[in-house]
Parts: sequence; C-alpha cells; structure tokens
Amino acid sequence: MQNTDVNLSNAKKKFEHKKAATEQQVLIAGGGHVGLSFALLLAHHGIASTLLEKNSYPTISPNDDSNRSHYLDSRNTALSRRTVQIYQEIGLWDELQSHACRIDAVQISEQGSFGRAQLNKAEERVESFGQVMENAWLGRKLLLAAQQEPLITLIDNASVSAVTQQADGVTLSFNYYGEEEHEQQLQASVLVACDGRDSTVRQLLNIGTTIYDYQQTAIVGVVETDKPHAHVAIERFSPAGPLAVLPLTDPEGDGNDDYQNGYRRSVVWVCPKGEENKYLEDDAHFLATLQQAFGERAGTFVAAGRRGAYPLTRVLADKQVADRCVIMGNAAHTLHPVAGQGFNLCMRDAHVLAQMMSAQVLKGEDIGDTQLLKRYEKARLSDQKRVIRFCDAVVHGFTHPNPAIKLARNVALVAFDKLPNIKPLVANYAMGLKS
Ligand SMILES: Cc1cc2nc3c(=O)[nH]c(=O)nc-3n(C[C@H](O)[C@H](O)[C@H](O)COP(=O)(O)OP(=O)(O)OC[C@H]3O[C@@H](n4cnc5c(N)ncnc54)[C@H](O)[C@@H]3O)c2cc1C
Repeated sequence: MQNTDVNLSNAKKKFEHKKAATEQQVLIAGGGHVGLSFALLLAHHGIASTLLEKNSYPTISPNDDSNRSHYLDSRNTALSRRTVQIYQEIGLWDELQSHACRIDAVQISEQGSFGRAQLNKAEERVESFGQVMENAWLGRKLLLAAQQEPLITLIDNASVSAVTQQADGVTLSFNYYGEEEHEQQLQASVLVACDGRDSTVRQLLNIGTTIYDYQQTAIVGVVETDKPHAHVAIERFSPAGPLAVLPLTDPEGDGNDDYQNGYRRSVVWVCPKGEENKYLEDDAHFLATLQQAFGERAGTFVAAGRRGAYPLTRVLADKQVADRCVIMGNAAHTLHPVAGQGFNLCMRDAHVLAQMMSAQVLKGEDIGDTQLLKRYEKARLSDQKRVIRFCDAVVHGFTHPNPAIKLARNVALVAFDKLPNIKPLVANYAMGLKS
C-alpha cells in the first residue's frame, strides 16, 4: 500500500513537474551541436524549449544513413568519457555509438626528443579514454532526436536580430527566411545563446570578449595508413606544430566490429598562420610532410582526403550570464583544439545548467531567476578556467623553441610516464571526469 502511494505521488510529482516545466519555456539561439544537445538535456528533465537556427536544417528520415561522410572526407570530434556518459544519461548513446571509435591508449611524444609518455586503458582501469565521432553523424543524430522530441520546437532559417530583457522574461526578435521573409518575436523565461564564436546574442547584450589570436591555423582532414590504428590516439609535437592523429571507424565495414578496426585516422595539425595553403592543395606534399613530422609510429600515410583550415583564436566572453540570458558553447568560450576539450567543456556546462533548471522547476521557482543564473556561472568557472589553462599550457609549452624549455618538457614527459600517481589524475582530467 505504502509503495503504491509512493508511486502515485512520484507520478503526480512528475506530471506536475512536466506541466510547470512546459509553462516556463526556454529559448535557445543557435542549433549547432551544443544548442541541440542542450535542448535534448532540457527535454530529458521535462523542460520545453524553442530553438532557433540561422541555417536551414536538412530533412532526415530515421532509417536513412546515406548522409554519412565519404571514406576520407569528414570532420571529427573526440568525445570525452564524461560526454559519452551524458549522452548515455539522455538515452542517445545507443544511437551514436555505432559510428564512434574507442580510444584505448594515448601516446604523447615530441619530434627529435627523448621524452614520451603513454596512457593505457588497462593500466588506468577504464573502459576507454573517450570516443572519436564524425561531426556529420553526431549532428544528424542530434537533429533527428530533437525533431522527434515533442518538448522541442525547432525553427530553422531564423536569425536572431534583437533581444529585450524584462523583469519577468525575455523577448527575442528574429528574421525568418522561410517561404515568406518576415520578422517575428518570441517570449520566454530565459534565453540561452549557443550561437557560436561570433555570437549575435552576446553582441546584442553588449557583453565584451577577450580575444587571443594564436597566429596559427588548424588543418583538419582524414588520412589512411597501411597499419591499423589499434585504437591509439597519438599526440605529437613537431617544430611545424602540434599534431593529433586519432582512430576512426571504418564506414565501409559491415557491422560493429568491422567499423571499429579501421585504417582511417583523423588528423588535426596546427601550423603557423599563413602556411596553410601548402597543406591544403597538394595531397602528395601533405602526406610527405606529415610522414616527416610524425615518423613511422602510425605506419605509412597512404592517402588523404580533402583538408579544411580553421584559424585559431581563443574567445572568452567577459561574462556568461545577464538578466534572463545565458551565454553557452563557443559563444562563451572558444578554445584551441589541440587537446580536444572545447565541445566536451560545453557539454559539461549544458549538463549542469539543465540540472539546475530542473531543480528550480521542481521547487516551483522561476527558471530565469537572476540568482539561479549567477549560481550556474559560479559553479562552472573553476572547470572552465582549468581547461583553458590546460589548453594554453599544451599550446605554448610544446611550441616554445627555447632549448631549456624543450629539455624541461621532455623531463616532464618522462616523469609523467614513470610517476604512478600523476597518470590517473591527468587521465581523469582529460576524460572530463574531474572538474
Ligand atoms: C579544428 C577543430 C577541432 C576540434 N576538435 C574538437 C574535439 O576533438 N573535441 C572537442 O571537445 N572539441 C573540439 N573542437 C571544438 C568544438 O568544435 C566546438 O567547441 C563546438 O563545435 C562548439 O559548438 P557550438 O554549437 O557552441 O558552436 P557552433 O558549432 O559554431 O554552432 C553555432 C550555431 O549557431 C548558429 N547561429 C549563428 N548565429 C546565429 C543567429 N544570429 N541566429 C540563429 N542561429 C545562429 C550557427 O548557424 C550554428 O549552427 C574542435 C574545434 C575545431 C576548430
């Protein structure tokens, strides 16, 4: 009897929570990977949202996988263990994992130096250090899940043009570029801006930024090697710039095991600004330079797909909350990609904010309350600062030409490899399990 009462009261609570949540709508500006993930996290807590995206979304049918990237043509993201856990929590990982490639080991070394270090999943007693996923696949599955979720309203072809903050809510104006072009307005309790590095919302709110130009460009592409990747991620520091070579699934394999055992690898190579063209145009030159910088640890690089170039700047919003508004994702912090931390950090932010909003709804309180938003910003600052410091330490520490600094970093790599207590700590940070 008692159990039934508890079940009934839980069901009632859930229903009331859902009702209260749908009444307090959240507006999300920007439907990239962070905006879509945040909307899905909110929906997991029963909170309704409306998401506006400037670009046009493709029509996706659930059983059509034909939009997968070509064998050597894709952009990829290394998802940390924590990000994988978050997608598991909202029931999406089963959909995503068929095209995710496990990272079982991480090797770090520097060209022409003695220092090297290795992390192995068996030694660290973890299932994996993370998973590498094609951006196109991730985006497609997030979009499909959002389209199928009744608590999410998606409006594409909609570009934010004005934000008006009131005491009890926020009004968002946007230009709609559908069949008929016109301006529209929406109101909600809170606006979350996920509209990228050059965020319009951030500018409309007069929130300044601190920008640092690394004077570097990331060359991104997919290569094939004659040796299987064996699930090893390799970080290599060369005078030409830091290089990350990550294992990828094989899209031409038939079944999960074949997908996992591939010869495809994702390359992120950071070069000085202005030198990108020589890596973009000629495949043979690119492969030869890559081989020289990388050595034989991945075997021979035999083929390369189309490369893309991304100028690297760090952009940090001066603040991440204003009355009834939150700045999130790349709009809040755009980082150097060398350590593969940017998206993973955004996911931890999104997870925490969705949880705090859910708790607020359960208390029957205002989801856009200034104190709540300030508590969110405070709760996230230490993790964000740590990741920003870590990325910059990797970029500057490993590219400094001074011989004394070079010696120090090699000694540090050897120490890292040998000292028993450091590896689990660093592994936990890299996996996003410690903040
Ligand atoms: C080369 C490279 C490699 C990377 N690798 C990794 C990695 O391995 N691991 C990792 O964790 N991170 C990685 N990152 C970082 C990661 O890509 C970003 O953190 C992530 O893409 C940020 O997503 P976002 O949704 O915040 O921004 P965006 O992807 O920029 O999305 C913003 C969205 O907002 C929309 N928008 C813009 N303006 C408006 C407007 N006015 N109105 C409406 N909509 C608007 C845009 O159309 C877009 O869809 C990498 C980055 C780079 C450059």
